[in-house]
Amino acid sequence: MCDRIWGNGKENELSKPAQTLTVIPLGGLGEFGMNMMAFRYGDDIVVVDAGMMFPESELLGVDLVIPDITYLKQHREHVRAIVLTHGHEDHIGALPYILRDLNVPVYGTRFTLALAKKRLEEGGLLESAKLFEVTPGRLVEIGPYEIEFIPVTHSTIDCVALAIRTPLGVVIHTGDFKIDQTPIDNAPFDLHAFARYGNEGVLALFSDSTNVERPGFTPSERVVGPRIEELTRSAPKRVVLSCFASSIHRIQQVIDIAERVGRKVGFVGRSMVDNVEIAHDLGYLRIPDGMVVRPQDIRGFDPRKLLLLVSGSQAEPMSSMSRIAVDNHRLVTIDENDTIILSARIIPGNEKAIFRMLDHMFRRRALVYYDNAGGPIHVSGHASQEEQKMILRLVKPKYFIPVHGEYRHLFRHAALAHQLECVSGEILLMENGKVIEFTEDGAYRREPVTAGRVLVDSGSLEEIEEMVVRDRKHLSEEGVVIPIIAIDKHTGQVESAPEIVTRGLMSENGNEFLAGARDVVTRTVESSNVEERADWSVIKEKIRVDLKRYINKQTSKRPLILPVILEV
Ligand SMILES: [Zn+2]
Ligand SMILES: [Zn+2]
Repeated sequence: MCDRIWGNGKENELSKPAQTLTVIPLGGLGEFGMNMMAFRYGDDIVVVDAGMMFPESELLGVDLVIPDITYLKQHREHVRAIVLTHGHEDHIGALPYILRDLNVPVYGTRFTLALAKKRLEEGGLLESAKLFEVTPGRLVEIGPYEIEFIPVTHSTIDCVALAIRTPLGVVIHTGDFKIDQTPIDNAPFDLHAFARYGNEGVLALFSDSTNVERPGFTPSERVVGPRIEELTRSAPKRVVLSCFASSIHRIQQVIDIAERVGRKVGFVGRSMVDNVEIAHDLGYLRIPDGMVVRPQDIRGFDPRKLLLLVSGSQAEPMSSMSRIAVDNHRLVTIDENDTIILSARIIPGNEKAIFRMLDHMFRRRALVYYDNAGGPIHVSGHASQEEQKMILRLVKPKYFIPVHGEYRHLFRHAALAHQLECVSGEILLMENGKVIEFTEDGAYRREPVTAGRVLVDSGSLEEIEEMVVRDRKHLSEEGVVIPIIAIDKHTGQVESAPEIVTRGLMSENGNEFLAGARDVVTRTVESSNVEERADWSVIKEKIRVDLKRYINKQTSKRPLILPVILEV
């Protein structure tokens, strides 16, 4: 391949005094999650998305990961707005943390803003936030930018791509998309808008690379309907379906199916209940009267007449699905021949937890469906190669920058574009913190800016330093607590009183504090059932959460808590 394609632009040359457009990726390149990209024309910065990422399990005690926004803080007086493409966590999840530092106006569509409001409310920031609702298909002026919100289809609703008009040219950012010709709400992907900009001439295209490894087209959301209906129709007892709580179209299809086969629906799990309520209130979800079973009636309801929509498809430790799997849920117990449908992608990194959860379901002799073997029960919300090609062909930009993917996805998306020969200028592989400046006569690489990950404890909303520093600091200031529990492998019984080892954690009433901590651990273990006790990741997480609460209350400290379970 020639250098022209793979270079990151020419080396620094003297920049011209005329206004230029600088692109500063702050997250989402070379990784899935925490999408954030800043555009700067002259002195005016507009930011696309403010996402978060869930931490890998090695990041003990870290609740979530957000982009480092040092660059934006250094230029705070120039940041005009954050513009949101859609409401997924990897696009809006960092908002509460960022607005705390940088209270700039936020633009988004109705559903996206409704989800953002929920996050801001939880962070106590809703009052002060400046939120502006935008209708898909409309134009908004922000500083020197004119931004069109172009309707696109994806796995949630009210999603847009952005056409950002600057004096130097138009930039298109696709956000997350697939091209669904038969969307559930009949709100189609606006191919015409992409074609219109393509004909006018586009300076740069930034496009979703997630599914570049998949040939062909991603099927319509509708394809999951028949299989889910078949499984629901033939289900001998209760149906429990788990999907992402933001997949409103999926939820709509499941409600429609339940209605057709004569089942009522119950919603279980906080995010499921919240999102259904928001979508229903805004008129995005049609739920026939009398269809919904109240939480308190779920337990006693005729299982042959019931379908439950449950959050926790990724087996998140404290989610409803995880609790149900180990029979520790207030509302739901799984019995023999109940039907479990996992209507979601198994996100890489979560396989172990998800399969452990499903094993618990199998152990209860439930009928478990988690892949597309007998017909699709899940379909992706991201464009495959043919759709990516279509966008490239329609937009035929001067510069093309793949976004939203790990490095190999970006690379392969670049290769795809190269093959099409529809990019008139250069294809640029960018990474977080690497800066490109567009001028009248080219694209130039500039000094990189600070970019990276910030680890956050969602309880205190405090930022946590990167790994080593964080641990060192954490240990020196807050100490470490190691609860040691001996569990009998066969009976699941706790063998002796738990032992608590602490280092560097000061407490005025040492013995009393330790006795209390031992009680907390004992209670946590005792209130857990045999399956939970046998599942060490579950029991450890429960102990960590309960101890954290107790210690914080007693000492207002947040030590590192590392539960150790001895098998005896
Ligand atoms: Zn998305
Ligand atoms: Zn995304």
